[in-house]
Order: sequence, then structure tokens, then C-alpha cells
Amino acid sequence: MEVKNSFLIRDLNLANIYKLIHKLGPISRKDLADKTDYSSATISNHVKTLIKQDFVLETKKGTSTGGRRPVYLKTNPEKGYMFSIDIEVNQVKIVLFNLDLKIVMKNIIPITNKSNSEEVIDNIFKEIDSIIAERDLNVQEILGIGIAVPGLIDKEEGVLKFAPNLTWSDLKICELFKNKYNLPIILENEANAAAIGEKDFVYPDSNNLVYVSINEGIGCGVIFNNELYKGASGNAGEFGHIIIDRSGPKCHCGNNGCWESLASENYIVEQVSENNNLTKKEIYHQAQAGNEEVINVLNRTGQNIGVGISNIINSLSPELVIIGGGITAIKDYIFSDIMMMVEEEALEVSYDKSEIKFSELENLATVYGLASLIFNEKLVFSK
Ligand SMILES: [Zn+2]
Repeated sequence: MEVKNSFLIRDLNLANIYKLIHKLGPISRKDLADKTDYSSATISNHVKTLIKQDFVLETKKGTSTGGRRPVYLKTNPEKGYMFSIDIEVNQVKIVLFNLDLKIVMKNIIPITNKSNSEEVIDNIFKEIDSIIAERDLNVQEILGIGIAVPGLIDKEEGVLKFAPNLTWSDLKICELFKNKYNLPIILENEANAAAIGEKDFVYPDSNNLVYVSINEGIGCGVIFNNELYKGASGNAGEFGHIIIDRSGPKCHCGNNGCWESLASENYIVEQVSENNNLTKKEIYHQAQAGNEEVINVLNRTGQNIGVGISNIINSLSPELVIIGGGITAIKDYIFSDIMMMVEEEALEVSYDKSEIKFSELENLATVYGLASLIFNEKLVFSK
């Protein structure tokens, strides 16, 4: 049985009014009534209930146009919290959000022994526990835990099917978290979560966007007609494995010349390391120091990224392609090459309607997306 937390708004009207205040607040009761079909009396009654249950607060704000200052309503950020856990290949971000979807705490722990998933998960538990202790949180105040992984998942079963760069497979990750915390748990692919983060926090008006996450591999999250597109398997958007050169290098999926084997950070490291043994960070420093050989590799990577993005634009015609992940550290060395290839290879009709941008949330799109997912799926409203 799940912990009985206090996030139960059983009444649909009550839930709707809460969501409106969450979205539009601080807002006066009058404006709230003007923006909905609810009568002033209904608004007044429901707001009273929400205030009594501590979901909504009254606040005085703004200048009065004479007479008394109006009272505004806003949601109570401290009514509840949620954890977003972004498991990357070399580190894990553990971020605590409040109910206003603002970051309260952000800790990063390194993954030193990635082959040992049990140890990695244990270290995540320790970090969560220390945040709970430090913030003096009660488990009942936690709405849920969202977990993102760089790989294929079975969302319904809460199982990580395969994460090649972590070398993890068939890991019942939700069960592990459930056994430990007895809270609602959501598992999502990291690029999917990031696409939701960008959509909900940066581009709410964009109905068709693709988030391209370029790190050790390439993952993509597709927002299609305003919703995350999952496909029959739940793992749609694996553009990292579209083949862009059949005579290219062997990919871990078994094919040759997949996009991610020619345009990811692993590709950059492999290419540069043919002549010298540098880490990713050292390579990026070398580029900044003007090392031409390195810059050439980055430019070539940019062109390869552009080829894949052309394929995405031609197949989905998104209005927005957002590039995120570790690759954003070298955006100045790849952007013009990406654009050159897209201008050359994308169909004009689709290209004209599309924009290519780097993530504004930078490396936090995934944790924001997880917070949004928990908020929207686990705040229990009447159905
Ligand atoms: Zn592949």
C-alpha cells in the first residue's frame, strides 16, 4: 500500500480551481471567476476549502487603485515536494522540487562503479535520505519520485529494459524505489522527460517539438500534437539508431553507422583519441585553446548531427528541434555545421517551418520534466 499522503483533492471542481491558481496565480478571486464558468459564489466556497486544506494561500500584492489592496491567491509551494532523479552515465542528479515546481535542492553524486547498479541505487537512496533529513521533511509531504534513465524502458512495469552506456538491463527500478520509500514512482526515458520539461517550462505554445539529447549516446523525445509520442512499444523516438552511413562503425544495437555512433560525445572522444588519449572535458578545453585538429573533429560531429536532424525534420516536420545534453558545452563549435547540413538536406517545406535551438534549461530539462510528470500524474484528483 502506498503511503497515505495528503494530496487528495477528490472534487473535480476543486481540483480545477487549484490547477488554475497554480497556473495563473497570484490571482484575485474576481479574476478567477472572470476566467472560468464558475460563479463568484462557487469560487469563493472552493477557495475557502483549498485555503483550509493548506493548498492555497492568500497574499497581498500590487498597488491598489484606491481603496483597499486586493487579496490575491497563490498555491502553497510548501504543501508538498517531489524528487527528480536523473541517472546519467557518470553521475546522478538528485533534485528536490516544491509544489510550485521550483528547485529547492540539487545534489549531484558521481557514479564511480557503473557496472554495479545495486551500489548506484544505494547511493541514490543515501542522498535522498540525507536531503529528507536536512530539510526535515516528512514522507507524507512527498508527492512522488520521478526517475529518468538513458535507455529503453517498460514504463507500465517500471523496468529499465536496456541502457547500453550504463550496461544495465532488466532492472526493476520502480520496485526498488517503491520498496524503500512506499511512494508513487514514475520511470521515464531521459530524453522524453527533457522534452516534457522544455514543453512545459520553456515552450508551452509549441505543439510539435523534438528534444535531441546528445551525450555518450543520442536519445530523442518527441512531443507530437501537444503530447509525448510513445509509439506501440512506449519507446518511440530512438532516432539515435537511424542509419546515416551503412559503411559506418558498428553500433551496440548491432547495426552499422547509426546516428549516435557518428554524432555523439562518444564519437568525439573516439575520433580525438585515435591520436591522443584525452577525456571529454580535456577535449573541450583543447577546442577552447584553439587546437585545430580537435576543432575539426567537432565541426565534423556538427555536420553529422545536422544529417540526423535533417532526417527528423523531414519525417516529423516539428516546429522546434531542441538540442540538449553534454554536447551543449561545445555549441559554438558545432552550430554552424549543423545548420549548414540542415539547410542542405532538409526539405524546404519542413525546414521553413522549423527552428533549431539549444536547450535553455541546459542540463536540467530532464529533472524539470520529471517534476512536471509527477505533479500532473500523481497529485490525486477525482477522476
Ligand atoms: Zn544503433
